[in-house]
Parts: sequence; C-alpha cells; structure tokens
Amino acid sequence: MSKASCAGLPKSVDPYKLAEQNSTLEGEIPLSALSRFREAVLEVGEAAVCSVKLSFYMDGERRRIVSGELEAPATLECQRCMGHMQTTLTSRFTLGLVTSDEQAQRLPKDLEPFLTDDFSADLWSMVEDELLLVLPPFPLHERAECPADEDLEALEPKGAPEQGDAPAKENPFSVLADLKKTKH
Ligand SMILES: [Zn+2]
Repeated sequence: MSKASCAGLPKSVDPYKLAEQNSTLEGEIPLSALSRFREAVLEVGEAAVCSVKLSFYMDGERRRIVSGELEAPATLECQRCMGHMQTTLTSRFTLGLVTSDEQAQRLPKDLEPFLTDDFSADLWSMVEDELLLVLPPFPLHERAECPADEDLEALEPKGAPEQGDAPAKENPFSVLADLKKTKH
C-alpha cells in the first residue's frame, strides 16, 4: 500500500480522542479504494476522489459527535436513455459515536449512530456509507440534456390524461351511437 499523500484523509483514527480535542480533519479518499461505491455506480474516474471534511467534538450532553460534509464525482446510468450521466454527489451528516447497539439506541433521533471500536474508527468505510446513502435511486439527465426526451411519458407515472394533444381515437361506441342516430 502506498503512503497516503498529505491531502489524504486518514483511514483509521481514534474518534474519541479527536472529539475531545475538537479536531477537524480534511482530506481526500480515492474513489477507486471504495469497492462498494465503485460497484454501485457505472464508473469512477481513475484519479477521482471524494473530498471530505469532518469535525469531531462533544455536544452539550457530552456525546461524541462527528459532523461532516463530502463531495464526489460519479458517473451514473440515466434511467431514461441508459446513457452515461455525470453528477456530483454531496452530503452533510451528523453522527453520534457509539461502541454498542445499546448506545446507538439511546441517541436522540436527529443523530445517526456511527458504530466504532473503542479506540479506532474506519473513516473511509463511514464516508462510503454516506456516499451510498446519497446515490439517487432513479438517476435522470436534465430533460434538455437527455437524448431520450421523447420517451419521457412512458416512464413517468400516469397523471391526468392529456387532452387535445393526440388525435382522439375513434370510440366504437360513438360510432354505434352515430349509426343509431342515422337510422332514426
Ligand atoms: Zn438520459
């Protein structure tokens, strides 16, 4: 394994110590190293990185908190045209550090748990989880940029029927009604 550059986010840290020291970490993670993320997207650029900023601190209740933001480029598959779609994923999150499920359950609702060992946390894996959370489940190009704009209606949930757009199909019953009329 090559030594991380100075801009690299450390993979393993003692998050409790960092929280007590009110530390902020800023750095990058090569996306090629995040295998679950790599498999979830169409492709990641060879040199693509996720930029991360993490603040460790203690809140008023002396809970250890890590709040962060991240940004990463990704190529997704547009579900309308099945073509490549470049996007930038961003996320902001606030996590409560816990070492057991029991602790996790005691966290207030607005804090997601970040389960770690007593003295070490895998930051890369945590960032990968956050990235996977913000992947759009149904990525679509902007309308103007999508080559398959024509097919849009087929994919969108059926709303109110469109009126006056397409020529009305002949209704067999109205034809019958006309026939009846002409008989009289
Ligand atoms: Zn598209």
